[in-house]
Amino acid sequence: MNTTHYCYTGQGRFHLKNYSTCDTAGFSSKEETLPLLKENQKQMAMLQDRLYAENKESILVIFQAMDAAGKDSAIKHVISGVNPQGVSVRNFKQPSSEELDHDYLWRAFRALPERGNIGIFNRSYYEDVLVVKVHGLHRNAQLPERCITEHLFDQRYQQICHFENYLHQNGIRVIKIFLHLSREEQKKRFLKRIDKPEKNWKFSQSDIEERVFWDDYQNAYEQAIQHTSSKQAPWYIVPADKKWFARLVISQIIVDVLNDINPQYPALPEETKRMLQQCREQLLTEDQNSGNTISAVVSSVEKEQDEI
Ligand code: ATP
Ligand code: MG
Repeated sequence: MNTTHYCYTGQGRFHLKNYSTCDTAGFSSKEETLPLLKENQKQMAMLQDRLYAENKESILVIFQAMDAAGKDSAIKHVISGVNPQGVSVRNFKQPSSEELDHDYLWRAFRALPERGNIGIFNRSYYEDVLVVKVHGLHRNAQLPERCITEHLFDQRYQQICHFENYLHQNGIRVIKIFLHLSREEQKKRFLKRIDKPEKNWKFSQSDIEERVFWDDYQNAYEQAIQHTSSKQAPWYIVPADKKWFARLVISQIIVDVLNDINPQYPALPEETKRMLQQCREQLLTEDQNSGNTISAVVSSVEKEQDEI
């Protein structure tokens, strides 16, 4: 499937209202998309294995959304099937007092994925131009007076662009996903969380309090997406009213980036290949030649390598 439709690379003016929340690209049911999702998960697992073995590029997937847009379940579905050793998920909640004692990118820096890994941010440093902007939280932060100006958020957009450019130039591909949910669908999901006892734990009164600021959040998202999209780190505005469709689009975006990286298993030097063959023969004939140990073969090849 083609995801360019949902991608904004910073060309032209960005209007959130031009992006649908309920598009399903012609698919009419979850069942119809399941085989495609499964195929993407298979591809992802295969490519992630190579990414991990190659140990050069890494991927950072950032999820941002309004409450109940399905971040958690999208993360769960999308990464199911990949090797957990090569994936890390980090949730960005309200900053702790230690985090508030640092600049806003500090906690993100510490959570960046290692080479060969896929890092997932469930919320991110974008909260510092979203919730912080909507509620004016920067005014109570430990920032010196000289930093709190009318340019603060414009400066942050710029800092984020520089940061993401830095990541790209240092081997980290950044994928930014905005799960685009309608206000009506959020209401339905909140009601479900209240009505279904097994979903009660997911609901918090603050979700309703934040809903009052819906338009402010939409404006903040529009501004943030407009000012921080680039060719290297575009935003994907993924329709999220149908969870099954959002999952398919997200899996496709990640597979596309992995294919673009095209990671390869490291090629073994000729001597090592020869050593493996000798070890193989040794294993196959070990019953006949019990005196000839594998370590003897390995050390003879290592000695040869030292001499080269
Ligand atoms: P769920 O979908 O389960 O509700 P969540 O991501 O909303 O998941 P919560 O624990 O409900 O998780 O909320 C985390 C809260 O932390 C969000 O309201 C978010 O806006 C807030 N937050 C994250 N980063 C910051 C920040 N830098 N400053 C202030 N608030 C922040
Ligand atoms: Mg929440």
